[in-house]
Amino acid sequence: MARDDETTIFTKILRNEIPCHRVYEDDHVLAFLDINPIARGHTLVIPREPAVTLDQLSAESAAAIGAVLPRIARAVMAATGAKAFNILQNNGAEAHQAVMHVHFHVIPKHADGSGLGIGWKVEKLGDVADLAKAIADAV
Ligand code: 5GP
Repeated sequence: MARDDETTIFTKILRNEIPCHRVYEDDHVLAFLDINPIARGHTLVIPREPAVTLDQLSAESAAAIGAVLPRIARAVMAATGAKAFNILQNNGAEAHQAVMHVHFHVIPKHADGSGLGIGWKVEKLGDVADLAKAIADAV
Protein backbone atom coordinates (compact mmCIF):
# COMPACT_ATOMS: atom_id res chain seq x y z
CA MET A 1 0.00 0.00 0.00
CA ALA A 2 1.42 3.39 -0.94
CA ARG A 3 1.50 6.46 1.26
CA ASP A 4 -0.31 9.63 0.27
CA ASP A 5 2.79 11.58 1.22
CA GLU A 6 5.82 10.03 -0.50
CA THR A 7 8.44 12.28 0.97
CA THR A 8 10.47 10.38 3.52
CA ILE A 9 14.23 10.67 3.45
CA PHE A 10 14.34 7.24 1.79
CA THR A 11 12.07 8.46 -1.02
CA LYS A 12 14.63 11.19 -1.66
CA ILE A 13 17.42 8.62 -1.64
CA LEU A 14 15.47 6.46 -4.12
CA ARG A 15 15.03 9.50 -6.36
CA ASN A 16 18.74 10.39 -6.14
CA GLU A 17 17.80 13.71 -4.56
CA ILE A 18 20.14 13.08 -1.65
CA PRO A 19 23.31 11.00 -1.70
CA CYS A 20 23.99 7.66 -0.07
CA HIS A 21 26.52 4.87 -0.32
CA ARG A 22 24.64 2.43 -2.57
CA VAL A 23 25.68 -1.21 -2.38
CA TYR A 24 22.91 -2.91 -4.39
CA GLU A 25 19.89 -2.05 -6.51
CA ASP A 26 17.42 -3.72 -8.85
CA ASP A 27 13.93 -2.98 -10.14
CA HIS A 28 12.34 -3.46 -6.70
CA VAL A 29 15.08 -3.00 -4.11
CA LEU A 30 17.79 -0.58 -3.05
CA ALA A 31 20.46 -1.19 -0.38
CA PHE A 32 22.78 1.43 1.05
CA LEU A 33 24.90 2.09 4.12
CA ASP A 34 23.13 3.49 7.19
CA ILE A 35 24.18 7.09 7.87
CA ASN A 36 24.45 6.37 11.63
CA PRO A 37 25.81 2.84 11.74
CA ILE A 38 25.82 0.89 15.00
CA ALA A 39 28.48 -1.35 13.46
CA ARG A 40 30.81 -1.07 10.47
CA GLY A 41 28.87 -2.28 7.43
CA HIS A 42 25.39 -1.54 8.89
CA THR A 43 23.28 -1.60 5.74
CA LEU A 44 19.65 -0.72 4.97
CA VAL A 45 17.62 -2.67 2.42
CA ILE A 46 14.45 -0.97 1.19
CA PRO A 47 11.75 -1.59 -1.41
CA ARG A 48 11.19 1.01 -4.11
CA GLU A 49 7.51 0.65 -3.27
CA PRO A 50 6.55 3.41 -0.80
CA ALA A 51 4.95 1.20 1.87
CA VAL A 52 5.21 2.42 5.46
CA THR A 53 5.33 -0.91 7.28
CA LEU A 54 6.00 -4.52 6.32
CA ASP A 55 2.36 -5.57 6.69
CA GLN A 56 1.47 -3.01 3.99
CA LEU A 57 4.09 -4.20 1.49
CA SER A 58 2.99 -6.00 -1.67
CA ALA A 59 3.84 -9.67 -2.08
CA GLU A 60 5.95 -8.75 -5.13
CA SER A 61 8.17 -6.31 -3.24
CA ALA A 62 8.32 -8.61 -0.21
CA ALA A 63 9.48 -11.47 -2.41
CA ALA A 64 12.10 -9.26 -4.07
CA ILE A 65 13.51 -8.13 -0.71
CA GLY A 66 13.40 -11.65 0.69
CA ALA A 67 15.32 -12.94 -2.30
CA VAL A 68 18.11 -10.40 -1.98
CA LEU A 69 18.55 -10.15 1.82
CA PRO A 70 20.73 -13.28 2.08
CA ARG A 71 23.01 -11.95 -0.69
CA ILE A 72 23.42 -8.61 1.02
CA ALA A 73 24.03 -10.26 4.39
CA ARG A 74 26.73 -12.44 2.81
CA ALA A 75 28.29 -9.39 1.14
CA VAL A 76 28.30 -7.37 4.37
CA MET A 77 30.01 -10.23 6.19
CA ALA A 78 32.50 -10.76 3.37
CA ALA A 79 33.42 -7.07 3.25
CA THR A 80 33.67 -6.54 7.01
CA GLY A 81 34.90 -9.91 8.23
CA ALA A 82 31.92 -10.29 10.54
CA LYS A 83 30.90 -13.86 11.27
CA ALA A 84 27.43 -13.04 12.57
CA PHE A 85 24.70 -10.52 11.90
CA ASN A 86 21.19 -9.45 12.86
CA ILE A 87 18.29 -8.44 10.64
CA LEU A 88 16.22 -5.72 12.32
CA GLN A 89 12.93 -4.52 10.88
CA ASN A 90 10.91 -1.96 12.86
CA ASN A 91 7.24 -1.24 12.17
CA GLY A 92 5.55 1.74 13.79
CA ALA A 93 6.94 4.56 15.91
CA GLU A 94 6.16 2.57 19.10
CA ALA A 95 8.43 -0.14 17.72
CA HIS A 96 11.31 2.29 17.07
CA GLN A 97 10.56 2.98 13.41
CA ALA A 98 11.92 6.45 12.66
CA VAL A 99 11.73 6.51 8.86
CA MET A 100 8.24 5.70 7.61
CA HIS A 101 9.29 3.65 4.60
CA VAL A 102 9.80 -0.11 5.00
CA HIS A 103 13.42 -1.01 5.63
CA PHE A 104 15.48 -3.94 6.83
CA HIS A 105 18.66 -3.30 8.81
CA VAL A 106 21.51 -5.72 8.12
CA ILE A 107 23.73 -5.28 11.16
CA PRO A 108 26.98 -7.21 11.39
CA LYS A 109 28.12 -8.32 14.84
CA HIS A 110 31.83 -7.67 15.19
CA ALA A 111 34.46 -9.17 17.47
CA ASP A 112 34.76 -5.82 19.29
CA GLY A 113 31.13 -6.24 20.41
CA SER A 114 29.70 -3.58 18.09
CA GLY A 115 26.38 -4.46 16.54
CA LEU A 116 22.84 -4.87 17.75
CA GLY A 117 22.19 -5.17 21.48
CA ILE A 118 18.95 -6.90 22.36
CA GLY A 119 16.90 -6.66 25.56
CA TRP A 120 14.72 -9.78 25.50
CA LYS A 121 12.26 -9.76 28.40
CA VAL A 122 10.50 -13.12 28.49
CA GLU A 123 6.86 -13.41 29.58
CA LYS A 124 4.96 -16.52 30.69
CA LEU A 125 3.36 -18.32 27.75
CA GLY A 126 0.13 -18.99 29.63
CA ASP A 127 -2.99 -20.34 27.90
CA VAL A 128 -2.56 -19.30 24.28
CA ALA A 129 -4.61 -21.86 22.41
CA ASP A 130 -7.27 -19.23 21.58
CA LEU A 131 -4.58 -16.76 20.61
CA ALA A 132 -2.93 -19.24 18.24
CA LYS A 133 -6.31 -19.98 16.67
CA ALA A 134 -7.08 -16.25 16.30
CA ILE A 135 -3.78 -15.63 14.56
CA ALA A 136 -4.17 -18.70 12.36
CA ASP A 137 -7.67 -17.59 11.38
CA ALA A 138 -6.39 -14.09 10.55
CA VAL A 139 -3.65 -15.48 8.29
P1 5GP B 1 14.48 2.89 12.01
O1 5GP B 1 14.63 3.32 13.44
O2 5GP B 1 13.37 3.64 11.30
O3 5GP B 1 14.33 1.40 11.89
O4 5GP B 1 15.85 3.22 11.33
C1 5GP B 1 16.03 4.23 10.37
C2 5GP B 1 17.49 4.22 9.98
O5 5GP B 1 17.65 5.10 8.90
C3 5GP B 1 18.42 4.69 11.09
O6 5GP B 1 19.36 3.67 11.39
C4 5GP B 1 19.09 5.93 10.50
O7 5GP B 1 20.45 6.06 10.85
C5 5GP B 1 18.91 5.71 9.01
N1 5GP B 1 18.86 6.95 8.26
C6 5GP B 1 18.06 8.03 8.54
N2 5GP B 1 18.27 9.00 7.64
C7 5GP B 1 19.20 8.54 6.77
C8 5GP B 1 19.82 9.11 5.62
O8 5GP B 1 19.56 10.24 5.21
N3 5GP B 1 20.73 8.34 4.97
C9 5GP B 1 21.03 7.07 5.38
N4 5GP B 1 21.95 6.40 4.66
N5 5GP B 1 20.47 6.52 6.47
C10 5GP B 1 19.57 7.24 7.16
